Amino acid sequence: MDLNRLCFLLVGPSRSGKTALVKFFLRCLACERLDPITLNPCDRTCWTCKLRPETSDHGGLFVTLRAIDTGATGPEVHFLHIDCTKIRTAVDLDDRLNSFSETTALDGIIVAYLDEVHRLVNRSMDETLLKAIEEKPFLWILSTAKPGPLEDMLQKRLLKFITELPTSEELADWLADRCEEWGINYEPEAIIRVVEKSNRIVGTALHALALASLDPDEGLTVNLVENDWIVELGE
Ligand SMILES: [Zn+2]
Repeated sequence: MDLNRLCFLLVGPSRSGKTALVKFFLRCLACERLDPITLNPCDRTCWTCKLRPETSDHGGLFVTLRAIDTGATGPEVHFLHIDCTKIRTAVDLDDRLNSFSETTALDGIIVAYLDEVHRLVNRSMDETLLKAIEEKPFLWILSTAKPGPLEDMLQKRLLKFITELPTSEELADWLADRCEEWGINYEPEAIIRVVEKSNRIVGTALHALALASLDPDEGLTVNLVENDWIVELGE
């Protein structure tokens, strides 16, 4: 199936895990040994999953998730992440999208992820985006907490998915899995406190894990969560 040209819109509260979801999806696309039944990626033994594509910061121009000389056999997956809060004009947007497709002749699956896409509505940049979606054979993923202002024609072009905050148990299980997967020791009590202190906001909870990962042997302790982890205001 040709994935390029599909367009998705993720709608959900800010920091509810939309970007984490997109990065997990990328890993599923790029995994060399995706389970054909469950569609879960492998246990980090393939070339791609070893690179931890979903934990790195894809702030650069683009990232080829799988280097060609690894001996991997699946399609290449390229990823462009545009933070729309940093796009000021339609020319900015065009430049970002064009520099991506013109850098090299890209083969494989090209994922263009535009975060906080409602910020493009000012100065009619959503029309520029619609034109790009019609012209460029990418797999488009847009995300926003506020889909209302987006142009009707653009909304009609998109497959919409709604995300919601996890329950406390779901978030606790997910955080424990991440600690195990990333080799961070943890106290079960500490996980419960992270869920409470983060108000179930996934992006905020991940900050505690990032802090714990600095010393994975000590890991996620109640002491770290209570005393070292400062939840930033406004989150
Ligand atoms: Zn894999």
